[in-house]
Amino acid sequence: HYEPAARVTRIKASASVAAAARVRELRADGQEIIDLTVGEPDFDTPDHIKQAAVAAMDAGKTKYTSVNGTPELQAAIIERLARHTGIRYRTSQLTIGGGAKQIIYTALMASLNRGDEVIVLAPYWVSYPDMVLANDGTPVIVECGEDVGFKLTAAALEEAITPQTKWLILNSPSNPTGAVYDADELKSLGEVLIRHSHVHVLTDEIYDEIYFGEGRLRSLVTVVPELADRTLLVNGVSKSYAMTGWRLGYGAGPEPVVASINKLQSQISSCPSSISQAAAAAALTGDQTFVEDSVKIYRERRDVAVEGLNRVPGLSCVSAAGAFYLWVNCTGVIGKTTPDGATIVNDQDLVLYLLESASVAVIQGSAYGLAPYFRMSFATSLETVQAGVTAIGDALAALR
Ligand code: PLP
Repeated sequence: HYEPAARVTRIKASASVAAAARVRELRADGQEIIDLTVGEPDFDTPDHIKQAAVAAMDAGKTKYTSVNGTPELQAAIIERLARHTGIRYRTSQLTIGGGAKQIIYTALMASLNRGDEVIVLAPYWVSYPDMVLANDGTPVIVECGEDVGFKLTAAALEEAITPQTKWLILNSPSNPTGAVYDADELKSLGEVLIRHSHVHVLTDEIYDEIYFGEGRLRSLVTVVPELADRTLLVNGVSKSYAMTGWRLGYGAGPEPVVASINKLQSQISSCPSSISQAAAAAALTGDQTFVEDSVKIYRERRDVAVEGLNRVPGLSCVSAAGAFYLWVNCTGVIGKTTPDGATIVNDQDLVLYLLESASVAVIQGSAYGLAPYFRMSFATSLETVQAGVTAIGDALAALR
């Protein structure tokens, strides 16, 4: 008889990973599914990045590297962060891992003791609360509704902080809402944080390149440099360079935080793949046309989807300022009856109905901690986005 550890029984498997698996299953059964669950770019990794990986293999760069990366990758990350944040991090302030996900997990593992609180904003990326729970922490969920643009306000932050608060996790652009914090919003959060010197901040900036606004997206550490000595900035190459399968992410922050993460990494993974490190260095230092081109394509899909969804009675959604998801309010559909006579009681029912009656896969808002909503990805072809929106509209028109 096998009993998993309590940390495993405390958590759920990732809802987005589960949704993707369900789509694969239905497709394997021969069903045609319009998959709007995808959490990764539909583009292929740019060729110059792949070639850098091949070159690294050919040159024998197939061995363990130091825990915090090859000199080439370290230099690439330092330059990239200097360009984007204005801060020149030192090598000793860097950590790398198998994706931003692994960095966040290890950061929590390296810092949390039982009873430590982590402020997580709902709607949240599905992994944050479970990562906190798995590492003995207590997620403190702060609901950030539509009235505040799905963003944390200074007042809500002030109210959530306790003597036990270890971290605030901020994700901008946000998965699932696409919300982005502007400089004024970061400044007002910064004013609160400066007063509470025991609170560390983890800024998950994995979608920072996928930004539809003017100019460059601002980092908390740029707007409030006083917080740099307690902010762990997390990023990676997955979303910006269509490199999700390469598994390479990085963190930059205060030395004591990073040192504790790297100590754990030395026992967990030794280092991420040397080949992926070479590819990531090429991604960060090479031609950035791919990033600009893909943002243009995402923007077009976003606009088509927002327009189409807002024409569907019962649905409404604000446009995403970044990332590649729409966060769709489905309040107007709750309580309606399907042609089979079932009542749509919540967003989970709606998602099941859409999958079964229209073969459209989206993810229920309740998985992200705010209902009734669903998340629709536009990291898929314009045709799929259009077909999805039409199918959703038709399926909802059949409700009574
Ligand atoms: N953070 C957020 C908000 C995400 O949506 C994702 C991926 O879905 C990640 C982090 C993880 O990215 P990576 O592929 O670098 O682990």
